Amino acid sequence: MRWLGFGGGKPEALGEGAQPVLPAEAAAMAQVHDSAEQGNRRHQQLESLAAISEFLITHDLPVNPFTLEVAHDIVTGTKPRLAAIAAARVTEGLPLTLDWLEEIMREEATDGGAAQIHALIVRLEKTIEAFATTACVAHTATTDYNNALEAHVGDLETIDTSGNVIEQITALAHHMLDRTREVARELSRSERETRTLQKQLADARADAEIDHLTGLPNRRAFEARYNQDYTATRDNGEPLCVAFCDIDEFKRINDKHGHEAGDRVLRTVAQSLATMTDETCHVARHGGEEFVVLLRNKMIEEAWALIDEAREAIAARRLINRSTDVPFGQITLSAGVADVHAFPDAREALRAADNALLQAKEAGRNVVLKANPPE
Ligand code: GH3
Ligand code: MG
Ligand code: MG
Repeated sequence: MRWLGFGGGKPEALGEGAQPVLPAEAAAMAQVHDSAEQGNRRHQQLESLAAISEFLITHDLPVNPFTLEVAHDIVTGTKPRLAAIAAARVTEGLPLTLDWLEEIMREEATDGGAAQIHALIVRLEKTIEAFATTACVAHTATTDYNNALEAHVGDLETIDTSGNVIEQITALAHHMLDRTREVARELSRSERETRTLQKQLADARADAEIDHLTGLPNRRAFEARYNQDYTATRDNGEPLCVAFCDIDEFKRINDKHGHEAGDRVLRTVAQSLATMTDETCHVARHGGEEFVVLLRNKMIEEAWALIDEAREAIAARRLINRSTDVPFGQITLSAGVADVHAFPDAREALRAADNALLQAKEAGRNVVLKANPPE
C-alpha cells in the first residue's frame, strides 16, 4: 500500500552515539529541498490515486487489495507488459473482468519467476566461464613453471660443490616445487568442479524452458526459437508458419470436472499436439490452455493442413474422467495460422495468427483459420 501513500517507511533510527553531521544551515536547506520533494511525491501519489479510481470505475471492478494493486501496476506503468496486454484487450473491445485480471496476474507471476531464474543462470554461466578460463590458464602456467623449475633443480644437484649457499637454494627450490605441484593439483580439481557446475547449469537452463505440467517447451523457449527461426528463414528465403491453438471452452471442463481433471485434459491435448514435433516443427505451451506451433519449411496451405489434422485427431477422441468415469465430452480446439514472412515483422505475424484464432472462435470453434496477409 506504500504507493497509495499509506504506511510509508519507518523513521530511521540513529545509531548509538551518532551525532548530527549537518551544520544548521545545510540542515535547513536540506529540509526545504526535502519538503519540496515530498510535495512533489504527494502530488504524484494523488494523481496515481485518481487514475486508479478512474480505472476501477471504468472497468466496473470491485475495490479490494488485488484490484488496487493491479490497477496501480497498469496505470503507473510499473508493469509495462501487463499495461500493454490490458491496453490491447481494451482496444479489442473486450472487458477487463476480475477473472481475466486474475488469470493474467497468475501468468505474470509464473513468467516473472522463470525470467529471474533464467537471468541468474545466464549470469552464473558467464562468471563460471571466466573462472574456468582463468583456472585453465593458471594451471598451464603453473605446470610450465614447475617443469622449468624441475630442470633447474636437476642442474643445481649436478654441480659438485659443498657450498652452503647452493645447498640452501636447492632446498628452497625443492620446497617451491612441492608448493607449485600442490597448486597445480588444486587448479586441476577446480577445473573439474567448474565443468560439473557448468553441466548442472546447462541442465537448469533447459529445465527453465520446459513447462512442467505438459513437458512441452514453454513460452520462453518458443520465443527464443521463434526469433532464431525468424532471422534464419528470412535470410535464406525459407517459408515459416506459426499457429496458435486454443482449447475450446476449457473453463467448462474445469468447472464441471475440477482443476486436476482439467490438468489431465491439458496433458492429453499437449501429447497429441506433440506428435507433430520434429526438427522442422516446434510445439510449445504458450500459457493456460493455449499452444503454439512453429513450422519451418512449410507453405501456409501445408501448415494449415497439418494443424487441421491435429485438430481433427483431438476432436475424434472421446476422453473419460478416470476418477469419476464421467465422459469429458468432445474436446476441441480452434487455431489461427499465419505465413510469418507475409507480415511486416515477427510481432505482426504473431498478432495476425492470434487474430485468426479469435476469428476461429467467433466462427463457432473447432476450426483452423488462416490469417489474411496485409494488402
Ligand atoms: P474459449 O473457447 O473462448 O477459449 O473458452 P475457454 O473457456 O477455453 O477460455 P477462457 O479463457 O475463458 O478460460 C480458459 C480457462 O483455462 C480458464 C483457466 O482457469 C483455465 N486454465 C488455464 N491454465 C490452466 C491449467 O494449467 N490447468 C487447468 N486445469 N486450467 C487452466
Ligand atoms: Mg480456450
Ligand atoms: Mg485461452
